[in-house]
Amino acid sequence: NTQNFDAPQNALENKVILVTGAGDGIGREAALTFAKHGATVILLGRTTKKLETVYDEIIAQGGPEPAIIPLDMKGATENHYRDMAATIIDQFGKLDGLLHNASILGVLSPFAHIDLPTWNDIMQVNVTAQFMMTKALLPALLAAPNGSIVFTSSGVGRTGRAHWGPYAVSKFATEGMAQILADEYENSTLRVNVINPGATRTAMRSRAYPAEDVTKLKTPADLMPTYLYFMADDSIGTTGESVDAQTR
Ligand code: NDP
Repeated sequence: NTQNFDAPQNALENKVILVTGAGDGIGREAALTFAKHGATVILLGRTTKKLETVYDEIIAQGGPEPAIIPLDMKGATENHYRDMAATIIDQFGKLDGLLHNASILGVLSPFAHIDLPTWNDIMQVNVTAQFMMTKALLPALLAAPNGSIVFTSSGVGRTGRAHWGPYAVSKFATEGMAQILADEYENSTLRVNVINPGATRTAMRSRAYPAEDVTKLKTPADLMPTYLYFMADDSIGTTGESVDAQTR
C-alpha cells in the first residue's frame, strides 16, 4: 500500500524532479517533501512570489538549491515547453521525475450552463498544457536512469458527477493520457502513474466546498507517502497504475 510508504531520508538523492503548481496546496507540499528527501526540485507555477517562498523554505531546511520556472500554463505555447526542456537538459542533463499537479477547477455548474471560454481554459491548463509539457520533456525523462511521470486525477476523473463539468472531463483525459503513455513506454525505463489525492485541505477544495469544516480534511502532508513512493526507486517497474493517496 503506497499510503504506508516510509521513505528513507535519502530516497530522492541525486534526483531532479519538476513539480507543476509548486507554489501552493499539494504541489507546494510535494516540492518541500521531495527536497527534504534529497531531490533538486524545479518549481513551476504561475505566481513567482509563491515559488520564491517555497524556494526560500527549501534553502532554510537545508535542501538542494531548487530552480524556479514561472510559467502560466494557460498562455504557454509549445515553444515555451521546448525552451524549458532545453534549459533542463542544459542545466541537469536529465529529469528523473515529473509531477503534473497544477490544475484549475473552473466553475461548478450544470452542464447546460457551461460556457465555451471556461471549457477551453480548463482543457488548456489541465490537458493541453500537460500534453505539450510531457512531449517536450520525454527526452529528458528518458535520459534519466529511471524516469517517473505522475499525473494528478480526482474522484470525478473516474466516475462522472453532476455539476463537475469540464474539470471532471479534464481528469478523465488525464487518466487516459497516463494510460496511453504507460502503454507506449512499457518496455522502457520510464514509468507513468496517476495519483488521486482525495479530499484535501487546499484553496481548490474550499472553492468546491465553501461551507465544509476544513479541520476534518486531510492535509497535503498526509498524502506524501504516496507521492514519495512514485518518485522513489521503490516504484521502479510499477507503471500504468492509478491510486488513491488516502483511504476514503
Ligand atoms: P490549489 O488550487 O491549491 O493549487 C494549484 C496550484 O496550481 C497552484 O499553485 C496554482 O498556482 C497552480 N496553477 C493553477 N493554474 C495554473 C496555471 N495556469 N499555470 C501554472 N500554474 C497553475 O490546488 P490543490 O493543491 O488542491 O490541487 C492540486 C492537484 O490535486 C490538482 O490537479 C487538483 O485537481 C487535484 N485534486 C485536489 C483535490 C483536493 O481536495 N484539494 C482533490 C482531488 C484532486 P497559483 O498558486 O499561482 O494559483
